[in-house]
Amino acid sequence: MQRSPIKHCRECGTTVHYRLPDDGDTKLRAICPACHTVHYENPLNVVGTVPYLGNQVLLCKRNIEPRRGKWTLPAGFMELGESTSEGAARETAEEAGAQFIMEDLLTVMSVPRVGQVHLYYRARLTSDVFDPGHETMEARLFYEDEIPWDELAFRTVKETLEHYFADRRLGRFATHAFDIA
Ligand SMILES: [Zn+2]
Repeated sequence: MQRSPIKHCRECGTTVHYRLPDDGDTKLRAICPACHTVHYENPLNVVGTVPYLGNQVLLCKRNIEPRRGKWTLPAGFMELGESTSEGAARETAEEAGAQFIMEDLLTVMSVPRVGQVHLYYRARLTSDVFDPGHETMEARLFYEDEIPWDELAFRTVKETLEHYFADRRLGRFATHAFDIA
């Protein structure tokens, strides 16, 4: 999931070089030798939900790489022009075709290794009928003891589900912010 390096200048199309800028910046940047544009690269946000109905949560079986065939929570890259919860709701509608009401933020996870921040909201399902999109082979509800822990697509999904069920047992939900090495 690590992004590939920038090859060409976004301003003029010249092949860029990765080097330290002249302004004292200590990180390698993609710099255009022609127009001198410095291309800064920043983390991307991945936004998603834990859709639940009673004691069950909704998981989606991925129909796309990476981790095709593994189970995941509905999530994807945030788009320009939307808030984090709007993006999470959009991804949930697209990947699961679910009907739901958005609730509070459950996890915020920095994943510096891949330059991403993942945010998951709880979402209360209002129907048990799903109409998954092309990115999903199957969308279904799981009780906690049915969760395919060894078949989950991503560590962020596993951590988020663990916090969801732990908070449920406590009878109160919090927002959990932490890093994933
Ligand atoms: Zn340029």
